[in-house]
Amino acid sequence: MEERNIEYLSEIQLDSLKGFGDKRYSQLKRNNLKSVLDLLRFFPRGFWDRSSIKSISDVNQHDSESEITVFGKIDKVSVFTTKTRLRITTLNIKDESGGLKAKWFGPQYIETRFKEGDSVALSGRPEVKKTGSVEFKNPTIEKFEEISELNETGALIPKYPKIEGVSTSIIRKSIKNSLSVLETEKDSFRPGFQDILPQTILNKYNLVNRLLSFKNIHFPAQIDDYYKAKERLVLDEFIYLRSIFSYLKSKQKELDSGLSYSFSDEDISHMKELLPFELTNSQKKVLKEILEDLKNSFPMKRLLQGDVGSGKTVVAAIAIYAVVKSGYQVTLMAPTEVLAEQHLKTLENFLYQLDVDINFLTSSIKNRDHILEKIKNGTPGLFIGTHALIQDKIKFKNLGLVIIDEQQRFGVEQRKKLALNSAFNPDQLVMTATPIPRTTALSIYGDLDISSINEMPPGRKQIISHLFNGLKEDDKKISNIVMNHLNDKSQVFVVCPFIEESENLDIKAAENVFEDYKNMYSEFNVEIMHGRMTSDEKDIIMKKMSAGEIDILVSTVVIEVGIDIPNATLIVIESSERFGLNQLHQLRGRVGRGTKQSECIFHITNKKTLESISDDGKKRLESIVKIDDGFKLSEIDLEIRGEGKVTGTHQSGKSDLKLANLRYDIELLLKSKEIFEDLKNNKDKDQIFTEAKLLFPNYFKVDSST
Ligand code: ADP
Ligand code: MG
Repeated sequence: MEERNIEYLSEIQLDSLKGFGDKRYSQLKRNNLKSVLDLLRFFPRGFWDRSSIKSISDVNQHDSESEITVFGKIDKVSVFTTKTRLRITTLNIKDESGGLKAKWFGPQYIETRFKEGDSVALSGRPEVKKTGSVEFKNPTIEKFEEISELNETGALIPKYPKIEGVSTSIIRKSIKNSLSVLETEKDSFRPGFQDILPQTILNKYNLVNRLLSFKNIHFPAQIDDYYKAKERLVLDEFIYLRSIFSYLKSKQKELDSGLSYSFSDEDISHMKELLPFELTNSQKKVLKEILEDLKNSFPMKRLLQGDVGSGKTVVAAIAIYAVVKSGYQVTLMAPTEVLAEQHLKTLENFLYQLDVDINFLTSSIKNRDHILEKIKNGTPGLFIGTHALIQDKIKFKNLGLVIIDEQQRFGVEQRKKLALNSAFNPDQLVMTATPIPRTTALSIYGDLDISSINEMPPGRKQIISHLFNGLKEDDKKISNIVMNHLNDKSQVFVVCPFIEESENLDIKAAENVFEDYKNMYSEFNVEIMHGRMTSDEKDIIMKKMSAGEIDILVSTVVIEVGIDIPNATLIVIESSERFGLNQLHQLRGRVGRGTKQSECIFHITNKKTLESISDDGKKRLESIVKIDDGFKLSEIDLEIRGEGKVTGTHQSGKSDLKLANLRYDIELLLKSKEIFEDLKNNKDKDQIFTEAKLLFPNYFKVDSST
């Protein structure tokens, strides 16, 4: 005989249960409750604590502070209608120790449901008079023969999310019934609920078994039982995730990339020697990981993360060289044209002595026929661009490596599309400058291996950060700092308020700021750049900025990251309370790229101060001036914004986690790793995976498009 398992319960539809007719069933389905399993995984949001049970003579004045439950027999039923036609029903109730009165006000027809001699349980806040007499007003009442029948009183009563047309009392009863079915022997089933973790593991990690976890998440005797149950179920969710990701990774490793790269160690050393600097240890480590992936026969899927300026591009350049040298094509996709151009410039610097054919393709490039021809006929080389690279008609004949500069703007879908536009499975490298907290990375990048650069190139000076209010006296301080930099022949970036609603407003705001700066610094060359400009126009401005011909560049946020202008030593971020924390950090990273001391000014909107902006805005600004570690900042960002918004799972609904919270359950997340690695029996792992597929379908929807 077997225990019932999750798959079995997922096949029992709720309309086969007593009490769930067509109408209720269709309401339940609308709320994604179709099977008994769904019902058992419909977890309570909290509890009414009616677990304090008292005999009547023990009820005292303190009991009016919280709910209590008493058991007794009905002694008398009376109904009274006042002159104002208010119905008052009174039940006199007795137990061995004494008696009390319970009153209901309004048309509840209590008298039709309860009669003298019934055993009842009452839950509510009692009023205890000076004389000692006890009275309940509108308490919850239930009739019972056996105490175990009680559903609303005498215990911790779970509160469930509201479902229209189905009372919580029915939900509670059905869950209770389903749980008791699990404990009965019937047909080929023995009592119990098949667990995914063996008893040895449960003992070792002091966990409750599955049946108990489901019983106690709904109907705990004490609140501690609930927490134990929840711990177990959260762990299970993380274990499922681990199982899914380990599957996705192993599947990846079974794939043959169909590629064989012929680059040699000498090629790599040769390129390293041509670099104007020595790689940091961190860069060496990630480079080694990447090159090992490339040499393997299975396609690489790797996330390269590192703070702004940590030197990801040079690592990418070496990988590009290795692949092109082996006769394959490489694409590098950036989120914006300006960034794509920046990559072009930087990579040209690293690769020009190495005979790598570099091509540039964005939607504004007109003469593209010869590039498209190279793409089609498989000419080895690097193809840098924006999403123009993933148009359907573009098919790379010989694509070896796909590099995506993600900046959190490309989704998994786009990554896949790029990979699909090629004849075989190319290697994939995703670069991100927005450090993702370890835990969150697991949920969004679980199918990728992760390499982190966590060290800055030497000689980098810390950027001095200032925070200024939007008041007159602050303006003066700011202009002093600006003048210091200008007099020193350094250049200044000014970033304009970011107005979420529309690009038009963004540009309007930028134009106002531009006018102000032009008037204030009339002897200097002040220019503006915004998203409406053509890429030629932007290009001209960036070239002038690079050449030192612009003193102050006012811009919208179109040039968020990556711009490398060593002589720019000051950035002023206007209305900085409007920006996200990661964005502020990226913007600050635009300066500090040379040897001169750089500064960053976070300027609050005119007339506002740190005290008058939103709490979140205040927290962000206070953090950014204190902290310059991108990883720490993104942890704080996570705290301020909540996990869904950072991962984007919020919108996509990708996360199937019901109980686990990536922010609060970090310890369990780590424990789940330990447990998963501790599972020696493949049968256990198979069962976990089978259940994971059932319970986390969204992860597989993504995968099925691979
Ligand atoms: P990221 O792409 O991570 O933001 P970059 O690759 O643009 O960073 O590197 C930032 C700057 O640091 C560039 O000017 C680059 O040439 C320089 N750089 C990178 N690695 C080193 C290193 N190991 N030593 C000195 N400078 C470096
Ligand atoms: Mg490989």
